[in-house]
Amino acid sequence: MILYRDAEPGKGTGRGIIPGTVRAARRAGSWLLDTLLPPDCPCCHGDVDRIGHFCPTCFRQLTFIADPCCTRCGQPFISASFGGPRMMCGPCEDTPPPWRAGRAALVYDDWSRPLVLGLKYGDRTELAPVLAAHMGRIGRSLLEHADIVVPVPLHRGRLFRRRYNQAALLARALGRPTGTIVSPDMLVRVRSTAPLGRMGPAARRDALRGAIAIRPTRRDTVANRHILLVDDVMTTGATLGECAHVLLAAGAASVDVLVAARAPAPGEPRRPEKNAVLRERYAVVG
Ligand SMILES: [Zn+2]
Ligand SMILES: [Zn+2]
Repeated sequence: MILYRDAEPGKGTGRGIIPGTVRAARRAGSWLLDTLLPPDCPCCHGDVDRIGHFCPTCFRQLTFIADPCCTRCGQPFISASFGGPRMMCGPCEDTPPPWRAGRAALVYDDWSRPLVLGLKYGDRTELAPVLAAHMGRIGRSLLEHADIVVPVPLHRGRLFRRRYNQAALLARALGRPTGTIVSPDMLVRVRSTAPLGRMGPAARRDALRGAIAIRPTRRDTVANRHILLVDDVMTTGATLGECAHVLLAAGAASVDVLVAARAPAPGEPRRPEKNAVLRERYAVVG
């Protein structure tokens, strides 16, 4: 069963060319690993042919986002005409986010939630490259534009409890194939914040004010750089917005946003029609 026809997660586009011998060794290593530890579906643990591939059932249930979508927040559109001349959704037209462009790989729903939460809380760090492969596909132009990939930071208390920052794992997995610089500690969460989901916009702004800062030793590396900000989920976008404000205030040339999953806004369809481009790209063969 083949689930991908186009680029594979490990293949870059330009920077970071892998010599042929190393590539051959990796292929041999991958074959050996597949023989000793048969790959399983990241969702249901059923049999699949290759590591990181979803089984056909789970693949059909997950809602991958592809163009056309809002250029700022990644909201999928059923047709390009929904985006208007600037390809932006209504909320982004009314209140544009501080970042230049934003994309999400998946709609955050009942099927993608176990993947995101498994990476976040369940020690399932093997999901980072799986999700990053799909983020890299929808966010290819953002990655090509980026000088530095930066994850949304965790407060050190949460980092101590979880032992890793899931956004940093995604950032590393995104930067690796293209050789883009990843700076996992450029941003720091100076104080922890209460969950923002139920707060109104003003309360969210108050809660986040001063909560995120540039690490002083990284300040010199921000100026005039194009930053790609990475997180696991975009819900209200408030945390990503605060990170973008901080980076732009420190002199970043631009900030883009790339997330694994995007929570639908109130009133937004939860399962948008998958478009023809997506179906063709992810055709299931065999
Ligand atoms: Zn499955
Ligand atoms: Zn939008």
